[in-house]
Amino acid sequence: MKRAKVNQNINLKEYSDIWIIGEQREGKIHPVTIELIGEGKKLAKGIDNKVVVVVAGYEIDEEINKLLYYGVDKIIYISSPLLKNFSTDGYASSISRLILERKPEIVLVGATSIGRDIGPRIAAKVGTGLTADCTKLDIDKEDGKLLQTRPAFGGNLMATIICPKNRPQMATVRPGVMKKAAHVDNPSGYVEVVEADITEVDIKAKVVKILKSSKKTVDLTEAKIIVSGGRGVKGPEGFELIKAFAEKLGGEVGASRACVDSGWIDSMHQVGQTGTTVRPEIYFACGISGAIQHLAGMSDSKYIVAINTDPTAPIFKVCDFGIVGDLKKVIPAMIEEVERNKE
Ligand code: FAD
Repeated sequence: MKRAKVNQNINLKEYSDIWIIGEQREGKIHPVTIELIGEGKKLAKGIDNKVVVVVAGYEIDEEINKLLYYGVDKIIYISSPLLKNFSTDGYASSISRLILERKPEIVLVGATSIGRDIGPRIAAKVGTGLTADCTKLDIDKEDGKLLQTRPAFGGNLMATIICPKNRPQMATVRPGVMKKAAHVDNPSGYVEVVEADITEVDIKAKVVKILKSSKKTVDLTEAKIIVSGGRGVKGPEGFELIKAFAEKLGGEVGASRACVDSGWIDSMHQVGQTGTTVRPEIYFACGISGAIQHLAGMSDSKYIVAINTDPTAPIFKVCDFGIVGDLKKVIPAMIEEVERNKE
């Protein structure tokens, strides 16, 4: 197997451009890619760099072209039948070889299951560090370095990490945290198609069959309305009321970690630092106290409505509308009101 050559004595001046590692699943671009483009464009202004999206795959030309309409300077499409299905080896090897050859200054990866898989492998292959799960990125005005901020020590403080000696500066960013890039009508970027510098021998795991889970998946990052339940729902049956309210509003069901840990609801519903980061139009926090780790995942919601029996609950400090009361009484009254307004 051909190994990527790591350069130990790097010249920092040789590195330029911000690379976004675009993610696609079955040929469809994952929304985190658009969020990273938005963030990449913001950072590029600070260091006068170009924004380049790198996507690995096969026969996805149409989806690739759509990305130009988010105002990127260039798309590098690594095209190969070997990249049709995701494989850790195939994707990490082909992308890292391109990084070693082209020398980007910054590389951003979505902290999705795929991004968390290939991000650290790419970093190791190109001989640089990686800050995982960033919630904020910025450029140091003094020296142009990437300031990578993420929660540390159980979310009790925010750590800002730099990568002073190695390149590229690499970070994974949680989906739903950064604002999506705006659509542009007249894109000026272009697509460069490159062949993957890998062979079949590079890919150790073979995809034999893709089986789809019959379980309904929840996409909290894209939801406009989220109704979340906390320990105040008192048990799994308490989520029936939360689900009924979410359904009435056409929203999704979220939950605090306390409920997930108690086995009341599946972990895919968890909102927060170790769950999903969300920014819906309206977030209903029902029977949720407002612990810092929960707030880390939902405080960027446009409007927060809190329902809690305890008037001193911390959630009331961050909400836009607070209702002190028992959720078993408040939610049915709200459902009734929604029904009345629909008539
Ligand atoms: P509680 O704090 O027990 O609050 C329950 C609330 O319900 C109370 O405020 C109470 O007044 C109210 N209530 C009770 N009865 C009613 C009623 N009938 N009607 C209305 N209100 C009622 N938590 C997350 O949520 N997401 C995370 O991602 C996450 N990550 C973590 C990571 C780490 C490293 C650590 C250490 C913790 C993490 N936590 C996370 C846990 C977090 O610290 C809290 O323990 C958790 O969020 C509490 O959940 P809760 O608000 O549902 O429960």
